[in-house]
Amino acid sequence: FPVDRIRNFCIIAHIDHGKSTLADRLLEITGTVSKTEKNKQVLDKLQVERERGITVKAQTASLLYNHQGQQYLLNLIDTPGHVDFSYEVSRSISACQGVLLIVDANQGIQAQTMANFYLAFEAQLSIIPVINKIDLKNADPETVESQIEKAFDIPRAECIRISAKLGTNVENVLQAVVDRIPPPPVSTDGPFKALVFDSSFDHYRGVVANIAVFGGRVRRGDKIVSAHLGKAYEVNELGLLRPEEHPTQKLFAGQVGYIIAGMKDVKEAQIGDTLYLQEQPVEALPGFKRAKAMVFAGIYPMDQSEYPGLRSAIERLTLNDSSVTVQRDSSMALGAGWRLGFLGLLHMEVFNQRLEQEYNASVIVTAPTVPYKAILSSAKLIKTRRAVQKNMVYIDDQRVMIKYLFPLNEIIVDFYDLLKSLSSGYASFDYEIAGYQAADLIKLDILLNGRPVEELTTIVHTDRAYSTGKAVCERLKDSIPRQLFEIAIQAVIGSKVIARETIKAYRKNVLAKCYGGDITRKMKLLKRQAEGKKKMRRIGNVEVPKDAFINVLKRK
Ligand code: GDP
Ligand code: MG
Repeated sequence: FPVDRIRNFCIIAHIDHGKSTLADRLLEITGTVSKTEKNKQVLDKLQVERERGITVKAQTASLLYNHQGQQYLLNLIDTPGHVDFSYEVSRSISACQGVLLIVDANQGIQAQTMANFYLAFEAQLSIIPVINKIDLKNADPETVESQIEKAFDIPRAECIRISAKLGTNVENVLQAVVDRIPPPPVSTDGPFKALVFDSSFDHYRGVVANIAVFGGRVRRGDKIVSAHLGKAYEVNELGLLRPEEHPTQKLFAGQVGYIIAGMKDVKEAQIGDTLYLQEQPVEALPGFKRAKAMVFAGIYPMDQSEYPGLRSAIERLTLNDSSVTVQRDSSMALGAGWRLGFLGLLHMEVFNQRLEQEYNASVIVTAPTVPYKAILSSAKLIKTRRAVQKNMVYIDDQRVMIKYLFPLNEIIVDFYDLLKSLSSGYASFDYEIAGYQAADLIKLDILLNGRPVEELTTIVHTDRAYSTGKAVCERLKDSIPRQLFEIAIQAVIGSKVIARETIKAYRKNVLAKCYGGDITRKMKLLKRQAEGKKKMRRIGNVEVPKDAFINVLKRK
């Protein structure tokens, strides 16, 4: 394929503005997939995406498009819209020369529209504004065009009005891709050079790497090297993604496709790696900036015997989602596990759901926390308000963008849901990290009969220390069964006890309910008690059921 007839582009937008639906129409028009009812959001391949109706992974499809008697190869990447997955968007952008920026004709510009526009703008990509859902009764494309003009400085004449659902004007989008997006600035002469922009682990074939070829060509049987590890491999299979794997003999500069080269370890072909031919070494491509994890949670196997299986599941899944950070951790109560870092709460939920669905793993997840830096000086004497308004920009007479500085801890849990319900769904929200700020925080410890329970230690704002301490003590009291001795539950700041609950001593006699001599029933109950014991963890001399931790950690 001549490079001047290749276009690489991605579809970006706020969540639900119609990216995946437009991708479906583009696949249909070009005959890449057949037009059936079943083929909805075909690029949302993961079970979690289908269940939640959202895209969490960027997906690639190569389309063949006939335009004025010429055949073009269009490489399309559909991206997620939710702020937690913007790492997927920034990676996708680095393999493209242009973007389709979709805006809902009813909702107009939203928070992620802004964020995604700037990602594309900073990467100097051609931006094609597309106004979608013009079939809706309340569609107001006029107003949305004014917003686009004002917010992005793009002439309204460049906007394309479509209905992705009905297919209206979608053909114009393909023409604009060919006319307005430049071909990739690459050459098929010169040495082979490819960027691994996505990677996944296949049980039978090992690592499957998605690559964008930046120079030269590669064919089956070639010896290639991964720049990151310096190891050589033989190419077993390669091809295009249409969007299913479609094996070919070669891949050329400007093409986007997949490659399988007998890599069996998840450390090989990591996202951001460069591949080149063994006999023609090249300098590694810049790769990607590491995503910065902002929400942390402990992950533990339900049973310690599942530890090795869970480890390999986590390794394989993080190959596919390199924005997750992994550290080994262990807890007195839950045994050996990991501390994982995520880009947000939804990201954390999706990751755990994928662990369950794609790897059959069942896990215990502790409550999410955010990182703090403690400075042991009087600077904390400075009282900060919890949110500070920074600036305010009017997008049009009905829409205003306000920037606030917030403690991250205040937004990760339920801020987004609250904002949505308070504004009847009108407000949208995006965030970036503003750095560490001084705050009036203290460490709250929980003691069981005088012993600190480290997984229950939290950092809280001074104003909330008392209520949090009290709530945790009460919940623990409800979840720990009476034992042979009295148990004191205390919430402590430094050496000061701020809340206390007591569980009275009690001999749990499981046979008390058995009248008469039904021996099988007795055996059954004794067995159940033994099983119940197994699920207990000892902290000092206190037996604590595992689910007590989960109950306490799950904030209401
Ligand atoms: P994404 O989150 O940007 O990928 O959005 P989706 O493609 O998943 O679409 C979100 C919702 O909007 C789905 O229920 C679609 O059926 C609907 N939708 C997408 N395009 C249109 C359109 O042109 N008109 C109407 N009425 N609904 C649309
Ligand atoms: Mg989508």
